Amino acid sequence: MDWFGFDNPVESRYAMIKAVGFNGIQMCRFSDFDNEEYNLRPSVAKRHSLKVENIHAPFRDVNTLWLPGVAGDNYANLLYQCAEFCAKNDIPAVVIHLSDGCPPPEKTMLGWSRLDKVIRTAHKLGVRFLSENLCSEDSGIKMFLELFAEYDAGFCYDTGHDHLYTPEYDWIEHFGNKLGALHISDNDGKTDSHSLPFDGNASWEPLRRVCREHKNLALSLEVNLKSYENRFKDDFAFLEEAYQRAKRLENLLSNQEKNI
Ligand SMILES: [Zn+2]
Repeated sequence: MDWFGFDNPVESRYAMIKAVGFNGIQMCRFSDFDNEEYNLRPSVAKRHSLKVENIHAPFRDVNTLWLPGVAGDNYANLLYQCAEFCAKNDIPAVVIHLSDGCPPPEKTMLGWSRLDKVIRTAHKLGVRFLSENLCSEDSGIKMFLELFAEYDAGFCYDTGHDHLYTPEYDWIEHFGNKLGALHISDNDGKTDSHSLPFDGNASWEPLRRVCREHKNLALSLEVNLKSYENRFKDDFAFLEEAYQRAKRLENLLSNQEKNI
C-alpha cells in the first residue's frame, strides 16, 4: 500500500518504498481525484520502477450506494472515476468495499444496478473490480461475484479482516478461484490495527494455500504506523522493517517454517 501513516510527498514515499526492496504498490485513493498530486502518482511509480497493482477506492460513503438519493449516484460516479483513472494509467484493478461499518447495511437492487453500470463499463475499459472481505461472511461478496462474473469481478483477500472478524470462515475455499489481490496485515484479534505480519496472532495458513495456487499474486502489505507510536524512528525505518517482514512471510509461505 502506498500510504502507511505519513503524509509526506509521494516522490519521497515512492523512492523509499523502492529503496527498501518493494517492487510494487497498491494506490490508496482516499482523497479527491482533482488532487494534482494523486494524478501524478502513476508516473512517479513508473519512474521508481514500482508496479501499480491496483487502486483502493474510497469507502467512507459506500453505504449510500444501497440507498435512494443523489449521494449514492455520486458514490457510483466516484467508482467510475476510479475505473477511468486505472484505464488511463494501465492499472488493472480497483479494490472496493461493499459497505462501511458493522453490521453491513442491507444490499438493495438499486445498489446492485448502480454497481452493474460501473463494473460493466470498467470491464469494457479493461479494468477489473475486486471486493474485499469485511466484517461478516454475509457481506455481499458472494452476490457480487455471481452478478458480475461476466465482467470478471474478483476477490481481494484481506488477512487482517479475516483474523479479526471471521476466523472460522474459509474465504479461500469459497472464493479463492476469484482471487485478484491480497491485503496483508496482522492484528491481535481485537482491533483492525493493520500491524506488520508477526506483530499480532493471525494464522497464515489461508495465505499458504493462496500462494500454492496463485503463485503470481503479489504479497501486498496493507500496514501502517498507527499502532506503533514511537517504536520506529522514522518512516524509512518502518518501511525497512515492513520489507523484512514481507520476506519472512514469503519464506514461511514457501514452506520453510511449520509453525503458522
Ligand atoms: Zn483491506
